[in-house]
Amino acid sequence: MSHVLAAVAWPYANGPRHIGHVSGFGVPSDVFSRYMRMSGHDVLMVSGTDEHGTPIQVQADADGVTPRELADRYNRVIVEDLHGLGLSYDLFTRTTTGNHYAVVQELFTGLHANGYIVAKTTLGAISPSTGRTLPDRYIEGTCPICGYESARGDQCDNCGNQLDPEQLINPRSRINGETPQFVETEHFFLDLPAFAQSLGKWLDAREGWRPNVLKFSRNLLDDLQPRAITRDLEWGIPIPLDGWRDRPDKRIYVWFDAVIGYLSASIEWARRSGDPEAWRQWWSADAQGKDALGYYFMGKDNIVFHSVIWPSLLLGYSGAGDKGGQPGSLGTLNLPTEVVSSEYLTMEGRKFSSSRKVVIYVRDFLERYDADALRYFIAAAGPESNDTDFTWAEFVRRNNDELVAGWGNLVNRSISMAAKNFGAIPPLADPQEEDLALLASVRAGFTSVGELIGKHRQKAAIGEAMRLVAEANKYLSDQAPWKLKDEASKPRMGTILATALQAISDLNTLLTPFLPHSAQKVHELLGGTGVHAPMPSIVEVDDLDGGPGYPVLTGDYTVGARWEPVPLVAGTPLAAPKPVFRKLDPSVVEEELERLGS
Ligand SMILES: [Zn+2]
Repeated sequence: MSHVLAAVAWPYANGPRHIGHVSGFGVPSDVFSRYMRMSGHDVLMVSGTDEHGTPIQVQADADGVTPRELADRYNRVIVEDLHGLGLSYDLFTRTTTGNHYAVVQELFTGLHANGYIVAKTTLGAISPSTGRTLPDRYIEGTCPICGYESARGDQCDNCGNQLDPEQLINPRSRINGETPQFVETEHFFLDLPAFAQSLGKWLDAREGWRPNVLKFSRNLLDDLQPRAITRDLEWGIPIPLDGWRDRPDKRIYVWFDAVIGYLSASIEWARRSGDPEAWRQWWSADAQGKDALGYYFMGKDNIVFHSVIWPSLLLGYSGAGDKGGQPGSLGTLNLPTEVVSSEYLTMEGRKFSSSRKVVIYVRDFLERYDADALRYFIAAAGPESNDTDFTWAEFVRRNNDELVAGWGNLVNRSISMAAKNFGAIPPLADPQEEDLALLASVRAGFTSVGELIGKHRQKAAIGEAMRLVAEANKYLSDQAPWKLKDEASKPRMGTILATALQAISDLNTLLTPFLPHSAQKVHELLGGTGVHAPMPSIVEVDDLDGGPGYPVLTGDYTVGARWEPVPLVAGTPLAAPKPVFRKLDPSVVEEELERLGS
């Protein structure tokens, strides 16, 4: 048994999230966390909404609200969406809490004390008409690398390169179109070259990572440059140094604060648990010197933050970068065990785009379809290791052919036959070789499916579970218990159904990490009581440090099924089942395609 940190990418709170987002970070991290808990590990799954930075400021200005009001709005929307998907966060919080501010400032101070944060004079933009600083994202111009005409001051959305605003050709203000003036301004930089050796040593010792993630990360080390971690901006976390703390126009840059969220959310969780030191079990070695495990889940556009920048912050704060140093008051902090990055999901052959309406938001999806239908699609056909296309036709096909006609039909016909003929789970009397063979196959799934989930091969894992579902369906068709209705053959009918029901119970456990909502239903159809698959709740909490309250996702996940077969008890009453999954009419494909913009 280990302490396992499941660190899930922080969704940005400038709008609702679409299914491409949750297929990258949301569902895979929940499947993994549920499986690890069921296997007896002590899992801490944390995340929250990422709420600072210029895009929030720009969007708030456009909507005529404050950045905090905008962040409040979308924090709540995102919390509700992730709740609807059944994602079992121990804590899903946000970056505008007093706790997060304090932890970010502690890391900044520690890195600064160890010499990994250096001040540099650089060029900053101001508006000639107002004299106010013009933040990077308020500036656009032509990308010097690819020629794209609407590149932003901090990044080109066309070629993806990070930019500085003074590099733009024909720079202009997005507020009033005027040409910004560039003046000298002082900023803090993370001295990334001072981590080249320690990062290289760490990356060389990684095992089991997806090869593309490791290769990409290793290549980044060849060209490490100091990276600005403060910005000319009012919306963000103040810089915790004398002479800077009270300046209203300088803030810590959003990417620096957001990656620290994994740590601050763990600390917030511990403070709320009644044991403020409890977070350390997931961030340091135990008494035997064995490190806790930390798995980070994200889309591939965020690899650099998790395999280079976040490890650098952890090394620098712990005094373990190339320049050495002393650990800060939080102690020596663990680096990630694995960076689990997924690829991109596209929509009907196109990139998701909110502005072009090539999108379906989580909320709209859940209004029309069940959460487990989406979870199934993402696990079975999502962008685990290749860019993958979501099509409505494939979604409907998988729902109808695999969930409804495969797994749902096995559950439905077995339980209804047993309910009708016995009114209860029949005894597994005098089992034959074929009965024992099926039960043994399904039991072996606890090893094969579990190992695949543990290695982040969820597509293969659910494929293996569904192969066993097909085996059980074939068993039922071969044995044809419906033909054994006369008095003499009824005991044999009972044994076949008892075998099928035991297989269903075990298969249901194997599918629980993927399909928690329907797993709870199947558990109850088999006469089970209590919680089988624990679910998160939305709880309104006070800020621990006196700020405004906010909703969090949390839950008690110590209850529920374990990763092991549980023998059914003969005589447990059964009722005629309601269908577990909904069959979709093929006409929904046309309807959904009409909703998409062209
Ligand atoms: Zn470009």
